[in-house]
Amino acid sequence: MKFCSACGAPVELRQPPDDNRLRHVCTICTTIHYQNPNMVIGSIPEWEDGRILLCRRAIEPRHGLWTLPAGFMENGETTSAAAIRETLEEANARIAIGELYSMYNLPYINQVFMLFRARLLDLDFSPGAESLEVELFEEQDIPWDELAFRPVSLTLQRYFAERKAGNMQFHMDDLEAPARPAKLSETAIPSIIAATNQ
Ligand SMILES: [Zn+2]
Repeated sequence: MKFCSACGAPVELRQPPDDNRLRHVCTICTTIHYQNPNMVIGSIPEWEDGRILLCRRAIEPRHGLWTLPAGFMENGETTSAAAIRETLEEANARIAIGELYSMYNLPYINQVFMLFRARLLDLDFSPGAESLEVELFEEQDIPWDELAFRPVSLTLQRYFAERKAGNMQFHMDDLEAPARPAKLSETAIPSIIAATNQ
């Protein structure tokens, strides 16, 4: 942040009185601009036969890779409403929302990722503006090497394992920044390697 959204003056990093960290503070009107993590909310839409709905991304980051429908929560919205909206926007798919299944803290990018179990209500889905393709996958057909985000691949792995075991439970985990491969500039990086660098 460079400028104050209240008055347009420059901001500077300063520790306000009674605070314990640096904030962007306006040099003129002294407004403190707090910045907090973003919530990424999505669903795991399951059809009657057990197949799972995935979307192939038409946007960056991870253009061309597959993901569960998910996106940033909006102000004034509940988490389950966000999951329903994102599924509708990205896959034109209607779901009945189920239990919260996954929550990943990603402190290195200031994100919290949450995925709900969901029942796909009909087969009348199609790519939304942010998707190239939308498709139902059985476990053995999941494009494991072409998944866009770690919370998505970790969630799907656990989902199929627990479903098989008949013991599906909410799980929370903390992810650290992945190690980046050396010599990025010297090699052509397949999209698949780039995808692991979340
Ligand atoms: Zn200001």
